[in-house]
Amino acid sequence: MNKYLTFFVFISVYSLSSAQDFRWQQRAEYTMAVNLDVKTHRVTGTQRLVYHNNSPDTLSKVYYMLYFNAFQPGSMMDVRSRNLIDPDARVKDRISLLKDDEIGYQHIQSLKQDGKDTKYTVEGTILAVTLVRPILPNSKATFEMQFESQVPIQVRRSGRNSKEGIAYTMTQWYPKMAEYDHQGWHAYEYVGREFHSVWSDFDVSITLDPTFVIGGTGKLVNADKVGYGYEKNGTAVKRPAGDLTWHFSAKNVIDFAWAADPDFVHEKITVPDGPEIHFFYQPGEKTTENWKKLPDYTVKHFQFMNKTFGKYPYESYSIIQGGDGGMEYPMCTMVLGERSMGSLVGIMGHETAHSWYQAVLASNEALYPWMDEGFADFASQESLALLFNTSMSESHAGSYESYFSLMRRGLQEPLSQHADHYNTTAGYTASSYAMGTVFLHQLKYVIGDESFYRGMRFYFNTWRFRHPEPNDFIRIMEKVSGLELKWYLSYWINTTKKIDYSIRNIIGLQGTTFVTLERLGEFPMPVDMVITYKDGTKQFVYIPLNEMLGSKRPENSTPQRTDLDAWRWVAPTYTAEIKRNVSDIMSIEIDPTLRMADVDRRNNKVSLGPELKAYEELTR
Ligand SMILES: [Zn+2]
Repeated sequence: MNKYLTFFVFISVYSLSSAQDFRWQQRAEYTMAVNLDVKTHRVTGTQRLVYHNNSPDTLSKVYYMLYFNAFQPGSMMDVRSRNLIDPDARVKDRISLLKDDEIGYQHIQSLKQDGKDTKYTVEGTILAVTLVRPILPNSKATFEMQFESQVPIQVRRSGRNSKEGIAYTMTQWYPKMAEYDHQGWHAYEYVGREFHSVWSDFDVSITLDPTFVIGGTGKLVNADKVGYGYEKNGTAVKRPAGDLTWHFSAKNVIDFAWAADPDFVHEKITVPDGPEIHFFYQPGEKTTENWKKLPDYTVKHFQFMNKTFGKYPYESYSIIQGGDGGMEYPMCTMVLGERSMGSLVGIMGHETAHSWYQAVLASNEALYPWMDEGFADFASQESLALLFNTSMSESHAGSYESYFSLMRRGLQEPLSQHADHYNTTAGYTASSYAMGTVFLHQLKYVIGDESFYRGMRFYFNTWRFRHPEPNDFIRIMEKVSGLELKWYLSYWINTTKKIDYSIRNIIGLQGTTFVTLERLGEFPMPVDMVITYKDGTKQFVYIPLNEMLGSKRPENSTPQRTDLDAWRWVAPTYTAEIKRNVSDIMSIEIDPTLRMADVDRRNNKVSLGPELKAYEELTR
C-alpha cells in the first residue's frame, strides 16, 4: 500500500470514530445497608434501587438475580453439575450434599416499587417482578427491598470458610437487577459460569464484627473511622464501640464484591499514573513470602496494560485472597492465595486483565465469554511475556495447543453459543479462553501488528462502559486496518471449520519458480510466506484474501515484501509466480511467524536441499 493510501485510511478511521452510533443502555443506582452476623452467617439488609429505563420499550416486568439460591440441593447448578460428563472439579456433587445450615439462600421479605407492594415470584435464582406501574421509556422507578440471605459454605466463587480459611467471599451476594438491552432480558438461571449486568453506582454500608477486615469493590468512604490500613498516613483511628460499619462507594461499575476475614493483612502500592493497588491476604508460610513480592509485578503489569490496551479508569484495585481459583470483579479480584510465585503472578495477570474486558468494556460474558476470558488471557500472556522475557509466540503457544487439542478430542463447538450450554466443561474452557486468545494473536497475522495494537486501544477507548458485542469489535478492527474482516469473525465464532494450508508443488521453468499452494481446510486466510535462498537472503511474499478487499500494511518484521494478487476464497489452489530460479531456493514456508492456527504444520514448509530437486505433490 502506498503512502497516500495509508494517509487516507488514517483520516477515514478518525472521522468514523466521532460518528459512532452507540446503543441505549439501562442504568441503576444501588443504596444498600446490610448486617452480616458472623455467628449465623446471615445477612439482613435493605436495598434501594433507582432503575432508569433508557430503552424505547415500556417495561411491565423486571428480573433480579438471586445467586445464593444456586447453592441448594436440586438447584439448576447442582443438577447441571451432576449431569455434565466433566463437571467443574470444585462443584461436582458438593451442592447436593449441603446441609440446611450450609446452603445459600436469598429470601425477599418485601419489595416495593415507588412505595407500593409489588407481586413477584422466585424460581431458582431468578426473581421475576410484575410491576405495579409499567416503567415508560426514558423514565425511572425506585425499588425498595428488604432481604435476608444465608451465606453458603464456599463451593464455587462465593461463600464462607474457603479451603484456605477465608471467612467470607461475598460475591454474587445481593439481589442484582438483570440487564435489559436491545436483545431483551438477560436473566439466566445461574449454573456456575458467566455474568452480565447493568451499569450501576453503588453505595454500600456493611456492618459486622469489628475484628473483621474487608477488601472489595470501590472506595472506602469512612476510611479514617475504620482504619485497617485504609486511613490516610498518620491518622489516629478511633473506632466506635460495637459492630463496625464500612461504607463503600463505587461509580459506573457492573457489580460490587467484597471479602472479609479477621486475619487479613492489608498492603498498598501505587502504580505511577494510578491506580492505587490494595492486597489482602492471610499471612502464613504458604502466602507471606510470595505476596510480599507480588506488588512489584502488579505495578509492572498495570503499566504494560495501561500503555498497550488503554488506561485503567478507576482510582483503585484490590487483589484479595478468597473464593476458589481466581475470579474477577469490578475493581477487585478474589484469588486462592497459597500458590507458587509463578502461579500467583499468573493469576494476578489474568484476573487484573479482566478489568479491561470484563469490568470496563463489560461485554456480555454469558453470550460472548471468548471476548472476556480470551481477551483477558491474551493480554495477560503478552504482559507476562514481558515480565518473564519470553517471546509473544511462546507466550501464546499454550492457547494454540489447547485449541488444537480441543479439535483432536472432537469437543469443539461454535463459540457463538451461550456459555452455560456447552456440552462439556473442556469445550467451554478451551473455546472461551484458548480460542479467544488465538482469535486475537491470529488477527495480528491478518491485519498486521501495528494496526492490531492501535485497534485494541481504539476499541477500549471507544467502547468502554458500553457492553460491546462481537461485531462492534470487528468493526473497530476494520476501521483501523482498512480491511474487511467479517469473514474472519464469522468463521471463527459461528463455525468449527479448520485452517490448513499446504505447499502442493514447486516447479521451476525458465528462471521462474511456480509455487502452488493448496487450501485443505474450509477456513480461508491470507497467506504469509517466506522464501529462503541459498545465498542466505530471504524474500517475504504476501497473498491477501480477496474477501479482505485490501492488503495488510507491511509489518516491522517484513519491511520489504513481495505482494501478489489476492487469493479468491472459492479457489482451492493458488499458484505464486516467483521471479527467481528454483535452484536458488533453499526453503519455502507458509506462516513463518506461527500466528496462523494451521491445524497441520507439517505441510507448511518445504526444504530444497542441494541434493533435492523440485518435486510434485510430496507434501499432501
Ligand atoms: Zn478469567
